[in-house]
Formats: sequence, C-alpha cells, structure tokens
Amino acid sequence: MNQKVEQIKKLKTKEEIYYYLLGLVKAMACHGQKHDSKKKLYYISAEFLIGKLLSNNLINLGIYDEVADAVKACGFSMAEIEEIEPEPSLGNGGLGRLAACFLDSIATLSLNGDGIGLNYHYGLFRQVFKDNLQIEEKNPWITKDSWLTKKERHYDVPYDGFTLTSTLYDIDVIGYENGTNKLHLFDVDTVDESIVQEGIDFDKEKIAKNLTLFLYPDDSDEEGKLLRIYQQYFMVSNAAQMIIEEVMEKGSNLHDLADYAVVQINDTHPTLVIPELIRLLMKHGIEEKEAIAIVSKVCAYTNHTILAEALETWPIEYLEKVVPHLVPIIKTLDDMVKEKYDDESLAIIDHDERVHMAYIDIHYGFSVNGVASLHTEILEKNELKQFYDIYPDRFNNKTNGITFRRWLMHCNHPLTEYITSLIGNKFKQNAMKLEDLMKYEDDTKVLSELLSIKQNNKIALAEYLKSSHNIELDVDSIFDIQIKRLHEYKRQQMNALYIIHKYFDIKAGNLPEKPITLIFGAKAAPAYTIAKDIIHLILCLSQLIANDKKVSKYLKVVMVENYNVTLAEKLIPACDISEQISLASKEASGTGNMKFMLNGAVTLGTEDGANVEIHQLVGDDNIYIFGAKSDEVIEHYEKADYSSKAICRNDKYIKKLVNFIISKKLLAIGKEENLRRLHDNLVNKDWFMTLLDLNDYIKTKEKVFSEYNNRIAWAKKMLVNIAHAGYFSSDRTIAQYNEDIWKLK
Ligand SMILES: *Cc1c(COP(=O)(O)O)cnc(C)c1O
Repeated sequence: MNQKVEQIKKLKTKEEIYYYLLGLVKAMACHGQKHDSKKKLYYISAEFLIGKLLSNNLINLGIYDEVADAVKACGFSMAEIEEIEPEPSLGNGGLGRLAACFLDSIATLSLNGDGIGLNYHYGLFRQVFKDNLQIEEKNPWITKDSWLTKKERHYDVPYDGFTLTSTLYDIDVIGYENGTNKLHLFDVDTVDESIVQEGIDFDKEKIAKNLTLFLYPDDSDEEGKLLRIYQQYFMVSNAAQMIIEEVMEKGSNLHDLADYAVVQINDTHPTLVIPELIRLLMKHGIEEKEAIAIVSKVCAYTNHTILAEALETWPIEYLEKVVPHLVPIIKTLDDMVKEKYDDESLAIIDHDERVHMAYIDIHYGFSVNGVASLHTEILEKNELKQFYDIYPDRFNNKTNGITFRRWLMHCNHPLTEYITSLIGNKFKQNAMKLEDLMKYEDDTKVLSELLSIKQNNKIALAEYLKSSHNIELDVDSIFDIQIKRLHEYKRQQMNALYIIHKYFDIKAGNLPEKPITLIFGAKAAPAYTIAKDIIHLILCLSQLIANDKKVSKYLKVVMVENYNVTLAEKLIPACDISEQISLASKEASGTGNMKFMLNGAVTLGTEDGANVEIHQLVGDDNIYIFGAKSDEVIEHYEKADYSSKAICRNDKYIKKLVNFIISKKLLAIGKEENLRRLHDNLVNKDWFMTLLDLNDYIKTKEKVFSEYNNRIAWAKKMLVNIAHAGYFSSDRTIAQYNEDIWKLK
C-alpha cells in the first residue's frame, strides 16, 4: 500500500492524481471479500444519487489520511482533486439518495446485497438560471475513465415487435472497513447521445436510441409516459434475468427461489419485476399459480409517498403497447384479487382500465414498509387502510437513515475530529455512541468550540460559493437553509412569503439584531409549472433585496444553481437553521433533516415525517416546531374545508404579503405571467395550505432568530442535536430491514 501511495508524489497535475487514485481504488475494491452466503438481496431502484465517490471510497478503505498527505506533498488539497470528479447524475432527490446511503450501509454491514438500476447518460437535467427562470440542460457525467466498469453480461429484453440487448456496467460499493458490493447499471449500446438537440429535448419515440439518455424524461405527454414504461421494464427484466441466472448457478431449482433471493422494490418504479419474474419462472416450466406464490415470497415494497398524484398508475392500453406479454399475467393477478375480495378499492385494474402499480406490490409482496413512523401510521390508518385491514402483518416501519461516512466524516472533517477528541473513535462504527457527547452539554469550553467549528465551516462555504458560483456571503450572518427538490408540499413558497414579511419589517425600521442569509437550493421538475414559478419568485426577491441599500445590510437571499450532493456536502456543515417546513402528513420522512441535525443545525419544522422522531429525541428545547399537526391537516382534506381565499379575506397582513408577489416592485423585475399564476394559485387554491401555517411560521422563525443570539444556549442545542443523531444512521435502518424483511446471513 505504502508504495502505491508514495507513487502519488511523482504525479504533476490534479488530473493525473485523480485518475491515478481512481485506478487505485478500483483495484483495491477488486480484492474485497466475496460473499458466499446463499441468500442475496437485490435492491432495485430507478435512482441512485450516489454523489462523488473518490473521498468516500478512500475513507471506507481506511486510506484517506495517507492519501491526503501524499496529495498535499504534491502541492494540492483533496478538495482540489475532488473538483475533477464529475458527480454521477443518477438521481433526483431523497429517494435516490436513500438508495445510495443504503448501498453504503449494506456493504458496511457485510450483507450480501447489490443495487440494480439504469445507466442514464445525461442523468437528471442540469439546472441553469437565466432571467430568474430555471432552464434545463443535459448533464453528461460519464467520462472515458470512470467508476463504471463494463462487464461481459448481456440480456435480451423483449418488447412488442423488437428486442433490445443490454450491456451491464458495475460500480463498486465499498463498505466502511468492510466488504465490497456492486451497483449494477444496465444500458443499451444503441443509445445515441446526438439525438439530444436543444436543452433536454429529443425524439421520445426512438426507443433504441433514447432509452437510457435521461432519468424521468418529461412524462407530460403520451410518448413520455410510454418511454418511462420502456425504461422501467428494461430495468426489471434485466434484474429478473440476472436473479434467475445467479440463483441457478448457486443450485436453486427455482421452486426454492425465496431461499436464494429477496427483492426490495424502491417505490413503484420497479413494480413490473413481479410479473416479469412470474413470466420467467413459467418459461422454466413452473405453473402460473405456483410461480405467483413463489414470487410473492421474494418481493418486498417500500412506499415513499402519500401524495396521490405521485402513486403511479398506467393505462392498461399503454402496457399493451410496450409489454403485451406481461398483460395477461397482470390480468391474472387482478382476477385473483377480484375473486377473493369484493372491494373496488383493492383492485389492481380499476374501472378506468388503469393499473395501480403499488397495489401489485402490496398484494404480491410479503412486506410493505413506510419510511418514518408517522408515515407508516398514515399508510395504515388512511392512505392504504383497506390493505392494512386485510394484510396487517405485512405492514412495517423502517425509519430512513443516512450514512455517517458521507454526511459527517467526509463532509465535516473539523467536527469529526473534534468529536473524536472528546469521545474517541467508537461512534464511527456505532453511531449511537454519539450520545456520549451529552456529558459535555454544560461544558462551555466544548460549546464554544462547536460554535467556532460552525463559524469556520461558514467561512469555508463562503469561499467555495465565491469561487464556484460567484456568490458572496456575509459569514457573520445567520445561515438559514432550505435545500431539497422544489415541490408545493415542501413549501418553499412559505419561506418566500417570510422573506416578503422580513423585507417589510426591515423597511419599517425593525432591524434584526444579526443579519440573516436565507439559502435555497432546489430543482423543479421540467413540467411542474408552479414549482418553476416559485423558483422565479425566490430569484426575483433575491434581486430586489440585493438592490435595496437599506434591506440588503440585514437580509440576503441566495438560490444556488443546480443543487446536488456535492453542494449539499458544502452547505450542510455550514448551516445554523435547517428548514423542514412541509405540510404535516405530506413529507414521508425527509433525510435532509437528519443530515443537518448531525452537523449541528437546529431544525425549524413542522410535526411531519422524521421531524416527529427528531423532536422526540432532542426534546422541546432543541427544535422549533410550528404549524398544524397531521390529524388536523388530514381532517381539512377529508372535509374539504380549507380555504386560502377565506384566510386572505380575514387576515389583512397575509393578504398584503401575498399581494406583494404581483406588486409593481416585483413586476418590474420578474415576469408577470409567472408571478400572477403563483399569486392566483396561492389565493384561490393553495392545495398544500401555506397560508394556514404562515402566521405561526413567521412567529416561530422570529423566535429562532432571537434565541440564536444567546450563543452558548444555542450551542447547547447544537450539541444535543448531534448527540441524538445516532438513531438516524442508515446502518441502523439497514440492520432493521435485514432483521425484519431480508433475513440475510
Ligand atoms: C438528502 C438529499 C435530498 C433529500 O432532501 P430532503 O430534505 O429530505 O427532501 C435531496 N437531494 C440531495 C442532493 C440530497 O443530498
């Protein structure tokens, strides 16, 4: 090893060092132990938002410090070397990042399990701001030398009238001081990058050329929807063929498939793996009824959302067009349900001839899990109640987690080192050991040091954003951060209304004790108009305030372009206040909230998703909770009695804030069409009840800013948060999946 690290010192450029390390890590991963256990997990997911891999892999191999020293001897920092690596663009948000954290923990716990997904060449789009609007561009990330290793493994995937042959690419998943697993990404050789013209537009009907170009191609039209089915089937047919091949090599007769394989279906995108496995078992001579019974013991489903519009349903006619050979199987699955239960709400194929993908998973899988305790409770009592009534034993909760290797050890070296100096190394293997920090909760020396680490991280972020985005931050201001995909239920618009409130307040002479910096990062789905309008509003407010001499001394609004894992790793360690303000009942779990807590930010949030569990762990004094509770929200939906119009009518101040969106001042900066549409939506619809919680949000946020100034009391909150973050290690989550669902080893 030493020798290989010594080699680094002979290298001259950053590129040479990066590619040398890439090769070194890949070679070391090859020598990782092989699993010889009989049963294997296949984690199938349309997204794996893995982030850059170099530093994480070095940490997990236990050679980061050595390598960093050698790199330093060449006159470079590790940060400079990391800059060379493109971030793989294989995911969209929390769901994909969860899959990536899970792979890290599965390898770290030495479990026999691989990920399976698709190798999107241009990933999700790259976000650019122009005239205060989001523009989408392709996001190429695959370079000649990369973490991908091309394999000699191909499968034929049948469609109606043609067949596509796959090529497999593997990425090594290196566990912390432990085994190596694989992320298998399937691709087709015929994909043609040159068919992408302007932005992210391409001919959606040329399947052989476009299949793996983009993640989630715009599905606002029929061709887009069909393309998604083509992609989903490609992913699961490859997975199913690989599973059958691997288990047969190990001696399975396929009747005993469940002794060899367990499939975790991450959200509904991989659902077609169920009929596909049934089809393949039948091809191997197994009767349909038995094939269905076998597959039902192999597949487990994770639900990620209760938003009705996000639960996939496909017209049966679309499935006929793309995968006609699966349709008879899906109809059999539906017939069996209809024979047994005389309840329309349980049917897989509904009256409108739409196929409910989640219902296939629930009827023909052995486990259904939610991703935070409140979320699972809502599934059982409301959203999926009819299923819980007939299959109570299938339902279980697995509260999400994050890998502490990336979200503490890699992204926050100063904090990691300081924690180690206080409580030793054990927390790196067992995150619950962070609780040992509690013995310092009244130690002002320790508390001051936490503040100083935070301050240094803010300075580091400011330097980074200056050089990468030409954004200036006031490091003596409070950093209040909301970074996550843009969605109305996450309520960035509520934060924007707070900005308007603060703008008025400062104009009126109520000056904050300490300046405030509000930082946003968010991509909006290309076809999600209102989400893009919210981005427009935030960018316009940012410009308005920056150009206002008086207000800009106290308030700054920053929206960083193209929010991704790399940016998250820089923003989170520098954050004072973590914004987790979704409408209660709508955020299944959240994982951003956990990353922030672990890095010593204090949460300002609703009683939603995993915020509920954070609240229980840290207690009332160390989190700021506001807004309607989930029961109340669910009741509003049931009674359909929420009216934003009525709120605007009765509350003059709220009306004033909302009207500012279409004020002369903003219209002078922004586009009337966008601002008016957003304004009208808030006044007339406001489906996610922004105005319901707005007053409490403003009041609570003012309290947070005021309490921030009691620095030692604040530092104690930071410490309590860090000390109780251990529960949110994805090692804990994965151990529970294994104990209750996978039963590997
Ligand atoms: C963690 C993470 C998310 C998920 O954030 P939430 O606040 O839980 O929605 C999304 N994107 C990136 C890049 C992340 O790292």
